[in-house]
Amino acid sequence: MFSTNVPATEVNNRLHRLVEELRKRGYRVTAQRLTIARIVLENVKKHPSFMQLLGEIRKQVPSISPSTVYNNLQLLEQLGFIKSFDVAGETHYDEADPHVNIVCIDTGEIIDLEPSDTLTRFINDLQKEKEELSVYEIIIHAFCRRGSS
Ligand SMILES: [Zn+2]
Repeated sequence: MFSTNVPATEVNNRLHRLVEELRKRGYRVTAQRLTIARIVLENVKKHPSFMQLLGEIRKQVPSISPSTVYNNLQLLEQLGFIKSFDVAGETHYDEADPHVNIVCIDTGEIIDLEPSDTLTRFINDLQKEKEELSVYEIIIHAFCRRGSS
């Protein structure tokens, strides 16, 4: 029902755009930076927390420091490739496209509403109507009544 993986071709397209953006703005394009970006872009639909991303990245770059990962995440966010938001005091990362997130209060799980959902279509219509408006993030906190019985 909810897709949680970004297809490899889409990840590669985004990495290409990232390399262009980095060069345009005078940032160094290093193998490590691209490895971090790839892992982030592959997992971003799962709304990973910082610690989850750090864990994934350390599987490939064991010696990497949290601050290096954090700085790279900030850069990706600045360049518009991802966005971040806080849930229960923890930073989670997400796709930059405007969409509605549902946070399950019971499990802490974060899921996306489908683009066909009424609320998502409402956001798109709203942005078309008010050109100066750019919706950043909508989070619905809900009891999802799963796994408790
Ligand atoms: Zn989301």
